Amino acid sequence: MRYKPEIVHSSLRHLDPNVKTGKHLEPEEFKQLKDQEDVVILDVRSNYEHELGRFKNAITLDIDNFRDFPEKVKELAHLKNKKVLTYCTGGIKCEKASAYLLEQGFEDVYQLHGGIIKYGMEAGGEDFEGKCYVFDNRIAVEVNTVNPTIVSSCHVCGTASDRMVNCANPTCNEHLAICESCGWELEGACSTTCKENPDKRPYDGTGYYQKHSNGYNPYKGIYRNPSKQTTSHGE
Ligand SMILES: [Zn+2]
Ligand SMILES: [Zn+2]
Repeated sequence: MRYKPEIVHSSLRHLDPNVKTGKHLEPEEFKQLKDQEDVVILDVRSNYEHELGRFKNAITLDIDNFRDFPEKVKELAHLKNKKVLTYCTGGIKCEKASAYLLEQGFEDVYQLHGGIIKYGMEAGGEDFEGKCYVFDNRIAVEVNTVNPTIVSSCHVCGTASDRMVNCANPTCNEHLAICESCGWELEGACSTTCKENPDKRPYDGTGYYQKHSNGYNPYKGIYRNPSKQTTSHGE
């Protein structure tokens, strides 16, 4: 499990989104704005998330953990005078990410309130390509009912696939897209090495195994309390 709650890089820790953060966009507002001239869409999530699904034309960052976000922002300096629209799974990371961008001198920063999940529920998920990675045993959820596509491919054979599995070798436990036939062939493992691991779990064709959820709930925080915004950073 690479996901670790409450670990935020020290250069993000001091930011208080209650003081300053990107302007919140409701799903419909985000949908209207995202294709406009001078707008860039920035995915603030990690590789294993945006590899499975992301907004069309979004800029993605080569990071394995949100801790590495500040370092990557240096590469985005040329976008400082654009309208930057950030998004993440449930909107929580964006509170910090957009606050950080403002601090770094980005002038016009917006964030998708409620993240991809709420956008799927309220705006049909239009132009979200692929599936949304979630931190529970579903691994991936559909969000786009308007123009869905597949952007990920089978880790083993390379054919288009958005079938996410956890490698059956518990010491590996990688989250990967593996197609149906490769899944059976490798008995739920991501490689022949993992298949031969003596601790390999039995494969039932789903690739889901009981695991600790870290208490993460992608639906938490979607509906903002109008009187006081929560500052949970459990995402
Ligand atoms: Zn395959
Ligand atoms: Zn593996």
